[in-house]
Amino acid sequence: MDPTMDPALAEAWLRALAAAVEQHQQQLTDLDSAIGDGDHGSNLRRGFTAVLAALDTLAPDTVGAVLTKAGTTLISKVGGASGPLYGSAFRAMGAALPEATAEPADLARALAAGLAAVQKLGGAQPGDKTIVDAYTPALRAFEQAVEEGSDLAGAAAIAAIGAERGMRATRPMEARKGRASYLGPRSIGHQDPGATSTALLFRALSDVTGP
Ligand code: ADP
Ligand code: MG
Repeated sequence: MDPTMDPALAEAWLRALAAAVEQHQQQLTDLDSAIGDGDHGSNLRRGFTAVLAALDTLAPDTVGAVLTKAGTTLISKVGGASGPLYGSAFRAMGAALPEATAEPADLARALAAGLAAVQKLGGAQPGDKTIVDAYTPALRAFEQAVEEGSDLAGAAAIAAIGAERGMRATRPMEARKGRASYLGPRSIGHQDPGATSTALLFRALSDVTGP
C-alpha cells in the first residue's frame, strides 16, 4: 500500500463517502427524526451529490484542492447545520494540505485542523452529542497510530473504529448543541445523526486506503 494520499485517493475518499451517505440516507433521516427535524440524510445527500458533480469538473493537482472543493460545495449547497460544519472541516483540511500528496502525518494534522474548524464554528465540546463526539476519538486514534509508525491504511482503520465507538457513545448523552438540544433530557437514548455521518466519513477513509 502506497503510504501517501494523492489527489485521486482524496477523490476516491469523497466518492466512497458520497456512496455511504446515499446508502445510509434513511438511517440518518430516521435518527434526525427522533431528535431533530429529519433532514440530516437529505441534507448530506444533496451536499455530496453536488460534491461529486464539482469533482467531475475539477482536475486537481493537490490533495488540498480536492478537499477544499468539497468543503466550499458543502457550505454552498447544504442549508442545515451539518453543511457549514462539514464544509468548514473539509476546507480546513484542504488548507492544511497544499502539497500534491499527503503523508500519514500530514493527514493527521489536516484532520486535526478539520476538527478545530468544526469546534470553532459550532462551539461543541466532547460530550455535547454532536459530530465532535465521533470525530475526537477518531482523530486521537489516527494520531496515535501515526505516532506509532502505522501506515495510512492502519491509521484510517483504527480511526474508523474510534469514530464508531464515539458514535455509539452519543446514545446516553444529553444534547447541548444543535436542534437536539431543544429536547433537553428527551434527547437521551438516541444516537446522534451527525456523529453517525462522521463515522461514515472515517469508515470511507478506511475503505479507500485499506487493502
Ligand atoms: P440541522 O440541525 O440544521 O437540521 P442536520 O440535521 O443536517 O442540520 O445536522 C444535525 C447534526 O449536526 C446533529 O446531529 C449534530 O451532530 C450536528 N451539529 C449540530 N450542531 C452542532 C454543533 N454546534 N457542533 C457540532 N455538530 C453539530
Ligand atoms: Mg436536521
